[in-house]
This record gives sequence, structure tokens and C-alpha cells, in this order.
Amino acid sequence: MSGKEQQYIQEAFDTNWVVPLGPNVNGFEEDLKTFCGGENEVVALCSGTAAVHLGLLACGVGPGDEVIVQTFTFCASSHPITYLGAKPVFVDSEKDSWNIDPDLMEEAIKDRITKTGKKPKAIVPVALYGMPYKIDRIMEIADRYGIPVVEDAAEGFGSRYCGKVLGTFGKFGVLSFNGNKMITTSGGGALLCKEPEMKQTIMWYATQAREAYPYYQHEAIGYNYRLSNICAGIGRGQMTVVDDHIAHHKHVYKLYCQLFKDVDGIEVHGNPTPESDSNFWLNTITIDPSLHIKGEENAYHDTVKGAVGGAAGVVHASSTPHTDCEPNNNVEALRVILDAAGIEARPLWKPMHKQPVYKDAAAYVNGVSESLFKVGMCLPSGPYVSDDDVKYIVETIKDSIIR
Ligand SMILES: *Cc1c(COP(=O)(O)O)cnc(C)c1O
Repeated sequence: MSGKEQQYIQEAFDTNWVVPLGPNVNGFEEDLKTFCGGENEVVALCSGTAAVHLGLLACGVGPGDEVIVQTFTFCASSHPITYLGAKPVFVDSEKDSWNIDPDLMEEAIKDRITKTGKKPKAIVPVALYGMPYKIDRIMEIADRYGIPVVEDAAEGFGSRYCGKVLGTFGKFGVLSFNGNKMITTSGGGALLCKEPEMKQTIMWYATQAREAYPYYQHEAIGYNYRLSNICAGIGRGQMTVVDDHIAHHKHVYKLYCQLFKDVDGIEVHGNPTPESDSNFWLNTITIDPSLHIKGEENAYHDTVKGAVGGAAGVVHASSTPHTDCEPNNNVEALRVILDAAGIEARPLWKPMHKQPVYKDAAAYVNGVSESLFKVGMCLPSGPYVSDDDVKYIVETIKDSIIR
């Protein structure tokens, strides 16, 4: 944390604004609005998950509805659908961006209308690892069917498509400032919307939906989702370095490309089209199944005892080392080698349609996310990863390959 963050937090204490509203919250929203091009309204919330939840709520999603969501994602894109009593309809990815396949998405819309007689209530594309989705095609299809889009740009803060910041295309845009994201407020998020009236509605839902009476009068169910003034102070400080952070992630991407150039069987995931401008939040590689890694014959011999990587919180101990959909042995062997070398690498997100909790959900699949999950890996990419770190990571990977 820099001096800026501490200064804003100190101000919050000095002025007695240690609550989920206040000058830092307003200032942070202004900073975000400017960063996103000045056209959108911004509501700062306590998490990106809360932003997905309120975006869907404001699209009118309710019990019995269906929502189309990219299957290749972190669970926070789809879980809020279930909070509202609605059902996710998972759609697979296209090969080049790894994000929702617009053609398959349209097929899913048509098929849901045929099968249920109702249109899906919303569409949630996800900027996986920061990579932009094909938002021009997604919006064209969504508009044709009159379905609102909630962009999950939690990982894509500062990524652009055709020069425009992600989160500003759809009816709503989701940002996250969790500890591991492009900028952090320790925990936090924001919902981008188009009109000041909608901002009011979102803020109302985020503060327990109170009616204007001298006492607490409730005519709708609300949530306690506003960002704290302390966290927003960190956010204001982070906004002074966000451009540097993004430039750094892009620099690390270029370095990985350069250092992996001559390594057969390993590919760095890059921008697929001239319109795409990823923030490279996490740099990812794919590892050819034919590439042999030291120790791969022992992969998955032990069950995992704790959270893999830096993932926080409590996990259930696994009872078996295998599931019916997991990264290849060479990928797991490489993860173990990197872990032993003090390098935190992780598999890609496991597609939601392969998650037991969603086993009954409708899914429109083409095999892309599942096959990427088997061969993919996320590499360290954050602001503290130096050029020497990247060289060490790539050298460690090269040394792990059996020639
Ligand atoms: C991190 C993340 C979120 C939610 O963010 P939190 O702030 O952690 O609640 C939503 N969607 C995706 C794809 C994410 O990676």
C-alpha cells in the first residue's frame, strides 16, 4: 500500500466517516466514472459478486427465470443467478477469446424460447483473465432479442474493445476490487449503469431498500451491499496507480511471449483480434498434451488438503484425488513443480457446467472450455512480479520439461 491509500483512510477516520457511505465512496465513484470514459453511472459495492447480484435483480431476474451465462468462468458470475431463484443456462466459449461464443449463445436463446416459451432474462458474458468478449456481436444478438446484458468485467478492469472500456457496453457492467484483481480495495466491487435514476435504484437496493419515513419502512427486500468508506479510501489511492498496473500486466505478457517463443508445446494466450485489448490480469498458457513434464506419472496421487494457490477461506478436504473433469497430468505435475519452487500457478477456471452443484443446469457446449481447462495454466502476473521473476518462472518451466 502506498502513501495515497493511507492518506485517504486517515481522512476517513479524522472526519469520522467509518461507515458504508461518505466522501471516499463518492470520490472513488467519480474516479471510476472518469476512468470508464465518463458516460456511465457507477455504484461502489462491497464485492463484485454483489454487483452481479444487483445487476441481475435490476434486469428483473426472479424465481423461475433463466439467465444465459458463460460457462468458462469463476463461480461469482453464476451463483447470484441462483440467489434470485433463477436458473443459469451455461454457454460455451469460442476458441480465440476463450469467452462466450456468440453463435452458440444465439442457438441457446432460440432453444430456450422453444423449450420454455420464455426468453432468458439476461445474458452474462465474462472477460476471462481480462480478455475482452466479442461485445459487438453479443450486443447485436442481445438487442435483436431484447435481452439485457450484464457484462462481468470483474477480471477485465481497464480492458477495452474497439477502444472502449469493458463494462460500459451492456445495460450493466460488473467490476471487482477483490485482493487479487487489477486494483484492490481489500474487498469491493462496482456496478456500472447508464442512467442516474438507475444508479439511485441500485443504491436503494444496496442499502436495505428503505422508504422515506421517519422510521424504517420496507416495501421491498434490500441488501447491505454498499462499499465502506475505508475500503473506498484504498480504492481512491489505487486509482492513482491503475494505469501503471495495467501497463505492468501488459509488459509481463510481452515478456512471457518473448521467453516462451522457442518453447514447443507451450502457447501464451494473446489478443485474438485487433479490436481486443486485454489488461492481461492473469497471463495464461496452454500446455500441449504431448509435452512431458517431470513427475507427471505421480500427478494426482495425493488428495489436496488445503486451498490451492492463494485462494482464501475454508475448503472441504477432498475425499478423492480425481474428478471427472480435471487438468491433464502434465499440467498438474507442472503446478506441483512450480509450487515447490515458490511460484503460485493455478489451473484455469473449471467450467461451471462441469461443476457438481450445477449438474442439472441447461448447458450449450462445444467442448472448447473443457479442453482448455485440461491444458491451461495461470501464471503470476501482478504488480510485484519483476522481469527477473518472469525469467525465473519460465526457466523453471523449461527445466521441468522432459526432452
Ligand atoms: C472476482 C470475480 C467476480 C466477483 O468478484 P468479488 O469481488 O470477488 O465478489 C465475478 N466474476 C468473476 C469472473 C470474477 O473473477
